[in-house]
Amino acid sequence: MLTIGMLGGMSWESSAEYYRLANEMVRERLGGLHSARCLLYSVDFAAVEAIQVEGRWDDAAELLADAARSLEAGGADLLLLCTNTMHKVADRVEEAVSIPFLHLVDATAAAVRHAGLESVGLLGTAFTMEQAFYRDRLAAHGLTVLVPGEEDRAVVHRVIYDELCVGVVKPTSREAYRQVIGWLVEAGADGIILGCTEIELLIGQDDSPVPVFPTTRLHVEAAVDRALGAREQ
Ligand code: GLU
Repeated sequence: MLTIGMLGGMSWESSAEYYRLANEMVRERLGGLHSARCLLYSVDFAAVEAIQVEGRWDDAAELLADAARSLEAGGADLLLLCTNTMHKVADRVEEAVSIPFLHLVDATAAAVRHAGLESVGLLGTAFTMEQAFYRDRLAAHGLTVLVPGEEDRAVVHRVIYDELCVGVVKPTSREAYRQVIGWLVEAGADGIILGCTEIELLIGQDDSPVPVFPTTRLHVEAAVDRALGAREQ
């Protein structure tokens, strides 16, 4: 079994899910006392969030590239960047190491295509919903991407940073997300990408009339497949 390197802490609420899911998946597949071989490098999210707000993406890339090098030096055989948003600097992180980098958007797009869908609604931080780095990568996989309107994007973004990243899960926010999902479906979305690693703490398949694509779970699945030699990527 290969050792999965997790570059997380963004936020740690979702990194805990990465850790739990990787261990559960390995146990499901290998049985008994088997668990995932993994390393977690967890950053201080306050520093990362300040960098995001100030648009200092070069600083973000350096910080994450350093962390990625540490994971490689520590023995990781493959690398996950455990956040959708920071895939804005994924190329720089990937360049910093010689181990395989499993891109979250590619794992997600593969699942959408596997489900036979082409038009997806995207929920995530404002960076993810509004900037090209994420939408273009999905489009390169042949997907049409719909995002909520401006006011709804603000709500989705606020819930992530003010609630989910600090461990707060509110039924009222779940209801707000369900409404946004409903509007995306009305606008033509055949599936919904939960494009922020904390959203699956709030929303599941029962909250959507169309299939949801939980990026944390899909990213971990891709890593476990790779770690157990089930899939070349
Ligand atoms: N974990 C979130 C994501 O997947 C948001 C936090 C961050 O900005 O990294 O985008």
